[in-house]
Amino acid sequence: MSHDRAQEFDAIVVGAGLAGLYMLHRLRGQGLSVRVIEAGNGVGGTWYWNRYPGARCDVESMEYSYQFSEELQQEWDWSERYATQPEILSYIEHVAERFDLARDVQFETRVASADFDEKAGRWTVESDRGVFRSTYIVMATGCLSSPNTPEIPGLDRFAGPTLHTGQWPHEPVDLRGKRVGVIGTGSSAIQSIPHLAEQADQLFVFQRTPNYSIPAHNQPLTDERRAEVRKRYAAFRAENALMPFGFDTRVNDVAALETDPAELEAEYERRWEHGGLPFLSAFNDLIFDREANETAADFLRRKIRAAVDDPEAAALLSPDTVVGCKRLCVDTDYYETFNRPNVRLVDVKSDPIVEITPDGLSTGNETFALDALVLATGFDAMTGAISKIEIRGRGGLALSEKWAAGPRAYLGLQSAGFPNLFLITGPGSPSVLSNMIPSIEQHVNFVADCVAHARSQDSEVIEATAESEDEWIAHVNEVADASLYPQCNSWYLGANVPGKPRVFMPYLGFPAYVEKCRDVVAHGYEGFRFSPLPAVGA
Ligand code: FAD
Ligand code: NAP
Repeated sequence: MSHDRAQEFDAIVVGAGLAGLYMLHRLRGQGLSVRVIEAGNGVGGTWYWNRYPGARCDVESMEYSYQFSEELQQEWDWSERYATQPEILSYIEHVAERFDLARDVQFETRVASADFDEKAGRWTVESDRGVFRSTYIVMATGCLSSPNTPEIPGLDRFAGPTLHTGQWPHEPVDLRGKRVGVIGTGSSAIQSIPHLAEQADQLFVFQRTPNYSIPAHNQPLTDERRAEVRKRYAAFRAENALMPFGFDTRVNDVAALETDPAELEAEYERRWEHGGLPFLSAFNDLIFDREANETAADFLRRKIRAAVDDPEAAALLSPDTVVGCKRLCVDTDYYETFNRPNVRLVDVKSDPIVEITPDGLSTGNETFALDALVLATGFDAMTGAISKIEIRGRGGLALSEKWAAGPRAYLGLQSAGFPNLFLITGPGSPSVLSNMIPSIEQHVNFVADCVAHARSQDSEVIEATAESEDEWIAHVNEVADASLYPQCNSWYLGANVPGKPRVFMPYLGFPAYVEKCRDVVAHGYEGFRFSPLPAVGA
């Protein structure tokens, strides 16, 4: 592809999800020329791709939304406590229209590579629809955007539709009267299974590892609730930003191991009745102490036994792992669905899947005739989308080489040796261990302010130093190791993708992280080096 005809911009942003759109808004507002490049043919990212039945957020709508515009948060009406995928997508489309963003997005274009030209101090970005050059490049490519398709022999020979939850078709899928198989029992499966069970004639759920799930107790949002939050939206956001994970987790700063059994049970029961992710904040030692965690696990296993009629199915659905070290799921009627006569739970841990045939699926001991297959098999998380782009920094260093033993980035924002390349919610930042929209906004604001700072000083090349990166990574690992998170085979660790290095990727440190970033700025962007762009033709 000819580089002579490259389109020139100040900044290229890859991805038109919540992160890419806000990045565009901020950089354009600073007078930069920006082009967003998006593989899909619409805005929304996660909420554009994940159209499976039952998809909705698990952080409450009035918190899982942008706060950069007071008018926007005052005017948008969320209809439910947890918004559905169509509602979130129409919100993002509204934002794109309201701030006139789509005119700077090039859709249906996939970025293949990005090379840093040290002489010019510019990035060359190649895509399947053109070449671009820019001073800055921002990877707003998403933490959960690269679908993980299992390598099961025969998968490509299945005659019926094979539907990955993360790439669900746009046209309606009619599963009525069909024999449907679902592989996986993570959040996507747990949300979709009750809906699939209503449609399908027979539903087979192929479970390798059970997960803990808390009822959402979803409900319509009343005018009173909306008004109550709106009356003090900024204060509501500020209070929640101080809580672990960055949303109203109803923090209870008491240790489970110091609580008497009756109160322990009562607190878990209150959390179960309240619903959703705040269950994990019932006590302050749950994610640090195995014995404390076991009290929560015991409570949840009893709930599963109470919900599921068949004791054998209940036992299979009961995890023996640490609560929360795989992301806690939030459901509506998940466990109850296994009481339906048309739903069967199949344990593929003891009897693994051996192949997919044109008309079904075989385990070692049994064959299942299927008309449709749903892959709720998750994502190559945190690094998947970035690693699919061939990125070369100073001296031609490939990011894939640098990250061969696991991702390395200072504050999850920049990797040393890759000047002017920014990551939004990159590995080493709280990202998936936080309410992601505020975390996205915080990263975008950091990057936009940092770029403005650099330009105001005529030192437009910004790069993290190797020393600051090393220190930060050591800290990220130290914090993770003090918790129970590294104890499960989770996607946080890359354990769901064969061959991926096992490194705990997100930073368990919200809200301390935000404070750290403020500190870095207060100390003149400590840990980042600024230098002028090379003279043209130098
Ligand atoms: P994404 O929304 O993933 O957008 C990235 C975009 O980049 C995609 O559109 C993709 O097509 C594009 N892209 C990637 N690579 C390329 C390339 N090479 N070329 C061109 N384009 C590219 N988080 C929460 O905090 N709360 C929730 O309730 C919640 N629910 C979720 C539910 C589901 C089903 C999933 C999968 C995730 C959920 N998340 C949730 C996490 C969610 O991903 C984030 O909240 C948020 O939507 C991420 O936005 P983003 O813009 O960073 O990335
Ligand atoms: P996931 O949590 O990674 O779950 C994938 C499932 O597929 C697991 O049960 C896994 O089993 C199974 N699996 C993978 N390969 C398999 C194979 N070869 N054979 C059998 N089983 C296999 O993915 P996800 O459910 O898509 O969720 C990913 C993340 O997206 C969530 O953790 C959450 O952060 C986000 N999300 C949020 C919501 C929400 O409620 N708002 C909804 C969906 C997703 P093993 O565990 O044994 O590997």
